Amino acid sequence: MPSPSIETPVLIVGAGPVGLALAADLGWRGAQCLVVEQGEGPADHPRATAINARSMEFMRRWGVADAVRNAAAPDDFPHTALYCTSLTGFEIARIERPHHGGRKPTTTSPERAQRCNQIWLDPILRDLAASFAGVDLRYRWRFEDLRQNDDRAIATVHDLANDERRTIVARHVVDCSGGHSPIRRPLGIGMSGSSYIGHFLSIFVRAPELWKHHAMGKAALIHFVEPEGLWRNLVILDGRELYRFGVRGKEFYDAPEKVDPERLFEEVVGRKVPHEFISVRRWVARNVVADKYQMGRVFLAGDAAHLNHPAAGLGLNTGLGDAVDLGWKLAATAAGWGGATLLDSYEIERRPVGVRNVGHADVSHAGDVEQEPHPAIADDTPAGAVARRELGEAIVRSQTQKFITDGLALGYRYEPSPICWPDGAPAPADTVGEYHPTTHPGGRAPHAWLAEGRSTIDLFGRGFTLLRFGDGAPDTASLEKAFAARRVPLTTVAIADPDIAALYARRLVLVRPDGHVAWRSDAPPPDPLALADRVRGGA
Ligand SMILES: Cc1cc2nc3c(=O)[nH]c(=O)nc-3n(C[C@H](O)[C@H](O)[C@H](O)COP(=O)(O)OP(=O)(O)OC[C@H]3O[C@@H](n4cnc5c(N)ncnc54)[C@H](O)[C@@H]3O)c2cc1C
Repeated sequence: MPSPSIETPVLIVGAGPVGLALAADLGWRGAQCLVVEQGEGPADHPRATAINARSMEFMRRWGVADAVRNAAAPDDFPHTALYCTSLTGFEIARIERPHHGGRKPTTTSPERAQRCNQIWLDPILRDLAASFAGVDLRYRWRFEDLRQNDDRAIATVHDLANDERRTIVARHVVDCSGGHSPIRRPLGIGMSGSSYIGHFLSIFVRAPELWKHHAMGKAALIHFVEPEGLWRNLVILDGRELYRFGVRGKEFYDAPEKVDPERLFEEVVGRKVPHEFISVRRWVARNVVADKYQMGRVFLAGDAAHLNHPAAGLGLNTGLGDAVDLGWKLAATAAGWGGATLLDSYEIERRPVGVRNVGHADVSHAGDVEQEPHPAIADDTPAGAVARRELGEAIVRSQTQKFITDGLALGYRYEPSPICWPDGAPAPADTVGEYHPTTHPGGRAPHAWLAEGRSTIDLFGRGFTLLRFGDGAPDTASLEKAFAARRVPLTTVAIADPDIAALYARRLVLVRPDGHVAWRSDAPPPDPLALADRVRGGA
């Protein structure tokens, strides 16, 4: 007899970091979901490493920021990006990144960017997701097919361990199945963007204390500059012995079995060093965004929705942002207070962020490819020295910006958004590199310390938060009544600190469960019910 179908409010396809983060966020909110993943567990080959400050704020909300920090490279491991001809050759440029890593907060966030590869991050997210009673996580369950109608989606999944087909009936499906999504194409959703296509081999290598074998010192990212260009790099993983050795080239991608990793590695190190290769994967980088993030009851998130070259470290971070935007909206919908159009705001808010981040990745990695080293770049001659100095200066000029993306990490705003209430103020500056704290509706509510170790952003998450600033802050009873009438969870918090009041710029600021500003004013809204309805995607 076939097993009965399974009912769930939310089916998540794929337990990569984005599917796991979404499941964790739903579980953290007390909502239910079922995650199906075709693999046996988290991926064991290293991919994303760069966890930006905003992603670390999400980890902080979920209570795993310390676990991520502890799994990252040691605090004192420099986040330097080094450019050299080989580790025993000539140094060409060095870009320090002092605002990455470590534990000391910055002025704009209680969390610093960290380097924690997915081989450690994904298990942290898996354990977090699995710790919630509402999250049902099934490994070795492969999604096969999806139908949807007006009131439900019906998926067929292959339980690989028992070789059995199972039917899952869900109110909503989130496609977190990565770049090869088996859902996106059957839905007829294309991907658009840059014509760039890069073919790579990724080699996972163990080389204990590699820095003891050369004079370049410790560095997190090492780009090898060769007469043919930049086609090999070494990315530190644990700060002790593990690296991801990246090799670009279609010839390597097409015939990985013919590749001699020993030769490729020894060339960039410049001498024989103790090492072992753990695994080799091939992958293709593209800079494209799905034309739609939603089709009926199905939503696309993470690499299923956007793909980018990893140079700017944006893929995973953008996907985590998708998960956080969708998490509270799905939870609110399941709880009944989310309005009929709340979920429609996901695509409107997140797709422009995807387009922006993928666009930046496209521009920034072009810098790597376009550097045309002098043929004498590695020669120990006066011409070689001149070539290295000139290229080094050009790299520092053009590449520093690639690594400073505070504006992308913290400054993204949902504007226009159907669930934020614009106040007519001019939009503040918004650049890739610089983040300017603002309570402009749609932006991330800024960080300020309320007390030792407690940030304003720690106030946000479970429901809406209404901040009242100063002794004379307007009465908020009408607003609280309107939210209660619509069963929208709201907590009011009074803040007396004049510096925080100045930062937040209005006497009343309403913050959404994802930490973005929904509304702000110096006076209560004339129609509190209209505001409650707008921010919950209601009438
Ligand atoms: C070499 C490399 C380096 C990178 N470096 C960075 C970086 O430094 N910073 C950064 O932010 N990003 C980086 N990225 C990108 C980052 O790895 C991805 O953005 C991230 O893994 C996307 O996560 P995801 O959960 O959306 O998809 P994935 O990690 O691809 O997970 C998708 C999951 O879905 C599962 N799945 C697929 N089909 C099915 C099915 N039919 N049924 C069930 N399950 C299915 C897969 O098995 C997989 O586990 C890098 C990528 C690569 C390749």
